[in-house]
Amino acid sequence: MTQNNRTDVVIVGGGPVGMLLAAELRLAGTSVVLLEQLPERSPHSKAFGLHARSLESLDRRGLVERFRDGARSWNNGHFAGLDVWVDFSLLDSSHGYALLSEQARTEELLEAHAKESGADIRRRHTVTAIDQDADGVTVAATGPDGAYELRAEYVVGCDGARSIVRKAAGIGFPGSGGRVTARLGDVVLADRDNAPMGMERTERGLLFCVPLDDRYHRVATFDFGPDKKNPEESLTLEELTASMREIWGTDHGAHDARWLSWFTDSARQADRYRAGRILLAGDAAHIHFPVGGQGLNLGLQDALNLGWKLAAQIHGWAPPGLLDTYDAERQPPARRVLENTRAQIALMNPDPDVTPLRELLESLMRIDAANRHIAEMLSGVNVHYDLSAGAEVHPLVGKFASDLPLETADGTTRLAELLRGGKAVLLDLTGGTEVAAVQREWAASVADATRVTSVAAAGTDASELAALLVRPDGYVAWAADRDTAPDRVRDGLGTALRTWFGKS
Ligand SMILES: Cc1cc2nc3c(=O)[nH]c(=O)nc-3n(C[C@H](O)[C@H](O)[C@H](O)COP(=O)(O)OP(=O)(O)OC[C@H]3O[C@@H](n4cnc5c(N)ncnc54)[C@H](O)[C@@H]3O)c2cc1C
Repeated sequence: MTQNNRTDVVIVGGGPVGMLLAAELRLAGTSVVLLEQLPERSPHSKAFGLHARSLESLDRRGLVERFRDGARSWNNGHFAGLDVWVDFSLLDSSHGYALLSEQARTEELLEAHAKESGADIRRRHTVTAIDQDADGVTVAATGPDGAYELRAEYVVGCDGARSIVRKAAGIGFPGSGGRVTARLGDVVLADRDNAPMGMERTERGLLFCVPLDDRYHRVATFDFGPDKKNPEESLTLEELTASMREIWGTDHGAHDARWLSWFTDSARQADRYRAGRILLAGDAAHIHFPVGGQGLNLGLQDALNLGWKLAAQIHGWAPPGLLDTYDAERQPPARRVLENTRAQIALMNPDPDVTPLRELLESLMRIDAANRHIAEMLSGVNVHYDLSAGAEVHPLVGKFASDLPLETADGTTRLAELLRGGKAVLLDLTGGTEVAAVQREWAASVADATRVTSVAAAGTDASELAALLVRPDGYVAWAADRDTAPDRVRDGLGTALRTWFGKS
């Protein structure tokens, strides 16, 4: 519990990732104080979409309907602005589409969720210093009543690209970039009717233009030229319209900018996500060019991976090394996103020599299997973790568990619904004695067996699957088929329960 100036976890930063992590930690019974420097959420949205893996995960917390309510969805996305669309309907997912959810709305819904979960959210609180020792972390902050200190077991930096937490922990942030200057504005276009839609690559750069509402368009120019902006200077409307004319030949009468921003193709990743009692998630851990709409989605998955593990550590039942699996599991997906955004930048280069490469890729994307590969990459559906520890495991282990339709004693349900409480689920689809016996044995060895919910159910599809152990983040920790030998069920399930959910 939070007592005066003590709490289990301090989260620095109340962007989307910090808010989701706060809710996850509360769901797992940990006290959380979230410190956010801004007095209120920004009305301007950087991100616009939620991809399939985020939607699948939100479904596993009972949130997806809130996000879908009144929001448009679409089946197509783009890769490097190629002329052939990425087709998300090819995904093997219960949410094979992208949802139009502006970041301001995503943040609003996640903040409401964090508050409902009981997180202590403090706005106008700026963290100024962090110092860890063997017993905990001291966080220095300035709030409306002045400077104060908080003491926590752990601190998570969800404080974005310039993370003070990352710097305080001495975590490196190596990477590349500096070739592209992107200038972005939410503007009114005088000749709106003639404005192009989507991405246009010219000999001088790339232009992005989409309508936001009845009045505003989002326009961005990607400038590959040698002149770089001074990092201290903000963007002006004049500079944006000059860049539009330079790249596009016209600025379409852009005026009345309500938001202007600029960024580069800087792609960096923290060299570790944990330094003792300090962890990083979201943009504090990885940044890249915002192409393909991936950064926020990637950060949400960090939060879902970290929340239950950190809570287990704080509750004292985490098996050795559990918290370190956060770094091991979440570094590779971010590395792959950095790689695919670098590939997209290379493909967007106005150099005419790149054009044949684009045409070649477009021809590949007309093949469903190739198109699906890109769709899985952008949507995060290709993410699976190597949980084998070198042993031979069921092919589902480490993959995101499909949303199985189920018949239980309490009626019809889905696996996604069983995961809403944020606990692991042990699903016995055969009513066999082996799974129940192993579960009982494990339950007798731990102080609180409710950290794994056991459910006997009949699958309503004709799958060969006999049993499944699913982690709170929806990934399969162990699985057995109907023809798996009883001794393999005993050994495999017993090991998986102890490995992921403790033995005391
Ligand atoms: C133009 C653009 C378009 C994008 N489009 C997409 C998209 O379509 N899809 C997608 O998935 N991603 C997109 N992204 C990326 C996405 O916006 C980020 O990945 C996302 O905002 C990261 O969330 P976060 O919570 O990690 O960090 P942030 O959103 O950066 O939040 C960090 C928070 O920490 C607070 N903070 C910082 N320092 C302190 C401190 N010392 N004390 C207290 N609080 C502090 C900040 O005020 C901020 O609220 C886009 C990015 C840009 C720039």
